[in-house]
Amino acid sequence: MTAIALGVPAIRRDPARMPTTFERPDVAGLVDRFGRVARDLRVSVTEKCSLRCTYCMPEAGLPPIARSNLLTPPEIARLVAIAVRDLGVRDLRFTGGEPLMRADLAEIIALSSAVAQGASISMTTNGIGLDHRIRQLVDAGLTRINISLDTVDRDHFSRLTRRDRLPSVFAGIRAAQDAGLAPLKINAVLMRDTLAGAADLLEWALANGCRLRFIEQMPLDADEAWARDNMVDAAELLTVLGDRFALTQPHREDPSAPAEEWLVDGGPATVGIIASVTRSFCESCDRTRVTAEGTVRSCLFGDDETDLRALLRDGADDATIAEWWRAAMWGKQAGHGINAADFIRPLRSMGAIGG
Ligand code: SAM
Ligand code: SF4
Repeated sequence: MTAIALGVPAIRRDPARMPTTFERPDVAGLVDRFGRVARDLRVSVTEKCSLRCTYCMPEAGLPPIARSNLLTPPEIARLVAIAVRDLGVRDLRFTGGEPLMRADLAEIIALSSAVAQGASISMTTNGIGLDHRIRQLVDAGLTRINISLDTVDRDHFSRLTRRDRLPSVFAGIRAAQDAGLAPLKINAVLMRDTLAGAADLLEWALANGCRLRFIEQMPLDADEAWARDNMVDAAELLTVLGDRFALTQPHREDPSAPAEEWLVDGGPATVGIIASVTRSFCESCDRTRVTAEGTVRSCLFGDDETDLRALLRDGADDATIAEWWRAAMWGKQAGHGINAADFIRPLRSMGAIGG
């Protein structure tokens, strides 16, 4: 199979095309036309990955981004500084592709941590090779970590990710726990293929002190195999888990939080479900994203990007970069629209955006 294109959309870089900010209130934060405020920044650091999860990457991987087009550690840290100091960002998460594929990840974290002004610094990773790097990353300032794991069956893992690397993921999980990053959050994408092993995965998570969250699969797979009428939803998962565990819903502290938590067998252990498709939380979305090439993406599903890398490299000052970032977020769309008859998939797949 040949690699598909990254799907990079038309990118705003001409000052004459700055998104219109007509009626935008004169406030520092990343507000949008629907009253949302973005305080959670996701920074993708690479398109490369050690796995090829079928719900994310094409078999051949994404076409490589030229090294000169990737943001450098000082460029990432400069954007982080602007985000926390001038734009009200409180949470920072590194993602990809697989962030551990960047040899300079510790430098990215250390430089970002130095300007983060107390914002949390976390990472979403598949965990492969994490055991060799965790100490360095924690010393650099990493405070939290989410590890993606969809099955604890080695053959199934190999088919799903197209790589036989489950033992390495387990080693990464243990290393993160030993480094004090517990309780560890585990993310699993819900697919027809993974439903049968969902109860085993939960049993494993409970036995290993991990907090498991299932995520409904979104139409962001590079292979474009996702189909609305065949996707597994939260209701179907609850039926399957309910055959082995007693699930009860506690009082929700924060009704706008994406994950719905269920007590397992009376608690205190819980399992989370992020029903991104069937119970969209777009109306309370607080995310802003920067791709590995340095474009701001206001929504996973919005192909409208603004090029901050060009501004950085053209010598723009912080105030100008902040103004472009605000304008980009002001134009954020209302929601993903997956359930609408006229829904069109975004050009970029999940691995090319940064989940
Ligand atoms: N490689 C890292 C990892 O797998 O954790 C970070 C990048 S990955 C794109 C970030 C998250 O997106 C992972 O938890 C992954 O399971 C999730 N993801 C990927 N494709 C998805 C899809 N089509 N629908 C829902 N979640 C998806
Ligand atoms: Fe790689 Fe993460 Fe995508 Fe899997 S979900 S292919 S680990 S980027």
